[in-house]
Amino acid sequence: MSARLIPPASDLTQPYWDAARRQELVIQRCDSCDHWLFPPRAHCPQCGSDRLVWRPVSGRGSVYTFTVAHRPPHPVFAEQCPLTIATVELEEGPRMLTNIAGCEPGQVEVGMTVAVTFEAIDDSDILLPVFTPG
Ligand code: ZN
Repeated sequence: MSARLIPPASDLTQPYWDAARRQELVIQRCDSCDHWLFPPRAHCPQCGSDRLVWRPVSGRGSVYTFTVAHRPPHPVFAEQCPLTIATVELEEGPRMLTNIAGCEPGQVEVGMTVAVTFEAIDDSDILLPVFTPG
């Protein structure tokens, strides 16, 4: 369990959070041009179509870049620092801003393979997708 600042779900993002509660990672895929996209959008950035469908993804990817927050960016993160903040490139292509959990920040390297896991958030039924080495 951890404390977090979680944005309220919107009509656009509700399917993402519903899937996370089932411990499933989903992102949108364009039914017109097969482009995978993240973060969620109303239209495909590739072809402009609104035929975007939420689809499960492998949950596997690699660290594209990362930084380590030693000072909490907000008091709610105080107990989690040092916190590894990373951009993970999913096998399907899109990149997600996320955290790397399950290892020390000094063990994280650009290019290391990671897999999604789901972190419980204090005082809520939200499960937050984060990544661990593997
Ligand atoms: Zn498209």
